[in-house]
Amino acid sequence: MPEAVIAIGSNVGNRLSYLRKAVDQLHSIGKVLSVAPLYETTPYGFKEQPDFLNSVILMQTTLFPHDLLQRLKDIETAVGRKKREKWGPREIDLDIIFYDNLSLHSADLTIPHPDFRNRRFVLKPLNDIAPQWKSPLDGETVSEMLDKCIDETIIEMLESDWYPDGIKI
Ligand code: ADP
Ligand code: MG
Repeated sequence: MPEAVIAIGSNVGNRLSYLRKAVDQLHSIGKVLSVAPLYETTPYGFKEQPDFLNSVILMQTTLFPHDLLQRLKDIETAVGRKKREKWGPREIDLDIIFYDNLSLHSADLTIPHPDFRNRRFVLKPLNDIAPQWKSPLDGETVSEMLDKCIDETIIEMLESDWYPDGIKI
């Protein structure tokens, strides 16, 4: 079954509650294999907004990439994402980082996620659960990409067991 890496983040309201609800919903679109620790990070890009909680989920899913994206958008809406400007604050953000060894570029979906190498808040939690995952673009591992990452965003690990009910068989 295909494996996907999903980055999750929130910086509005009860951030932890949004993240937990999103992971609850991910169980309805596949099998959650692992949940990375929870990190708190200062904003990347547009700085004048609250700090984020971030993590990364590794899951199996039978959904094709565009269907997966649509289901993730549905989950964002169900969990409570309101429409705002692109780089602005969000209740919940679910991004596809990897999908197996696939490299895909289309108008509304790019895999691997176009900016993941530059984002410590993606690479750090991903390195905790899948350090040997290789980018389909050049074969570099997550651990190697993290070593090279120059993102200076402050990132602090808060909790490793934030989704204790994470692995449901
Ligand atoms: P952000 O780029 O900050 O995550 P949004 O969550 O608003 O912003 O996403 C904007 C658009 O990015 C989505 O509507 C989606 O079509 C597109 N997109 C392209 N590639 C991806 C990907 N790998 N994962 C999630 N969304 C993606
Ligand atoms: Mg997004």
